[in-house]
Amino acid sequence: MAEIVDDVFCPIMRKTIEIGYCVEIQWIADGMVIPTDDEKHLTDNDFQICQNCKKRIDPAL
Ligand code: SF4
Repeated sequence: MAEIVDDVFCPIMRKTIEIGYCVEIQWIADGMVIPTDDEKHLTDNDFQICQNCKKRIDPAL
């Protein structure tokens, strides 16, 4: 069973973020939400990393 976590280390933001923010960034990477100033520096390569990130499936990974 998956471990319950509140925070994850995000490889593209290069810091620990709350799981809710992780999901929001996933939406941005998937083109469903427009980035705010906090995510404007992210590149297409970052979004590709996010789309393949194991934390989408299990945040404990
Ligand atoms: S799924 Fe995306 S936002 Fe969440 S930790 Fe991975 S790279 Fe960061």
